[in-house]
Amino acid sequence: MNIPFNKPHIPLISMKYMVQAAMSGTIAGNGKFTKRCHRFFEEEFGFRKVLLTSSCTDALEMASILTNIQPGDEVILPSFTFMSTANAFLLRGAKLVFADTLALVPNIDPDEIEKLITPATRVIVVVHYSGLACEMDRIMEIAGRHNILVVEDAAHAIESYYKDEPLGSIGHLGAFSFHETKNIISGEGGMLAVNHNPFLERAEVIWEKGTNRAAFYRGDVDTYGWVDIGSSFLPSDAMAAFLYAQIKRFRKIQRQRKWIWWEYHERLLPLEEKGFLLRPAIPEHATVNGNMFYITLPDKSTRDALLDHLRSNGIQAVFHYFPLHSSPYFKEKHDGRALPNTDRFSDTILRLPFFYSLKRREVEYIVKEIEKFFN
Ligand SMILES: *Cc1c(COP(=O)(O)O)cnc(C)c1O
Repeated sequence: MNIPFNKPHIPLISMKYMVQAAMSGTIAGNGKFTKRCHRFFEEEFGFRKVLLTSSCTDALEMASILTNIQPGDEVILPSFTFMSTANAFLLRGAKLVFADTLALVPNIDPDEIEKLITPATRVIVVVHYSGLACEMDRIMEIAGRHNILVVEDAAHAIESYYKDEPLGSIGHLGAFSFHETKNIISGEGGMLAVNHNPFLERAEVIWEKGTNRAAFYRGDVDTYGWVDIGSSFLPSDAMAAFLYAQIKRFRKIQRQRKWIWWEYHERLLPLEEKGFLLRPAIPEHATVNGNMFYITLPDKSTRDALLDHLRSNGIQAVFHYFPLHSSPYFKEKHDGRALPNTDRFSDTILRLPFFYSLKRREVEYIVKEIEKFFN
């Protein structure tokens, strides 16, 4: 058997919508499909305002502009994340302060955040790893007490919740990804959720190259011009049309992905009971959204050997993240603090194949190969 790590789900209806977008006469950004996508996310999750972007990286860069990061401002963020979480703030001149994760969940540790706050701290960025919610009550309380803004990197976290609140709606801003490895996709794609009222108007301006074009087309202002800094963060309506096909199948995609998640979870229980590996620890306040399935091995050599075993049996498992604080780019800039939980997760996490069309027999085969490895 040959099982890839990811296989993008592209329903045929995507083609129809993309042709419609192309034939409609406006295929640039903020067209009909973009508006349909916006309406879906706002109605489904109660986000105050969302803006589609060309990537989650773009949404994070918008967040960095909106939070008004100035050179030397400090941003606290996890080291166990994708580099876009960091780059977005670095591009505005921020000083990055990396925080360690919790011991049992690869999410930022609120106690570490608290220790790292200084008078220069402006923003805390949290990443809901694999869609499992960070400890948002504590984090929002800490941020509120120090008058700090919170950005949620919700790249993994569509349709996941902290208690009853959708992830991405709790901090001042939330950034989502529709990259082909995420739950719903448009190849490259993303979205910014704007939850903080004072950011609503400016978000739209930054999104469209620093112009008030969106307000102009709504008839809110009678001239359209350059009013602020910005960039071209909005996707073409063809990309929105592709995403709209995923939205049309949202419940089906999510049902299937969650089924796969729980299938792995249940079938790997005996190996966890024998002490060979750990399944994801689901915090009491968190939900599962079928983003990815990872296991944690006792040490790096076991993880690497299992990875080799799976690959030589046609199973494309992967691992991530190389800690940002010790990356080639940042290691000389880091303040030298050890981040032991981050290093351990980086050494011991293994991600199993995870995609919409993964079959029960494929999950069985993968689990059987993991069992074989340990026997
Ligand atoms: C995928 C991912 C991103 C970047 O998403 P893009 O849409 O590819 O820009 C950012 N942060 C995290 C945690 C991610 O997993």
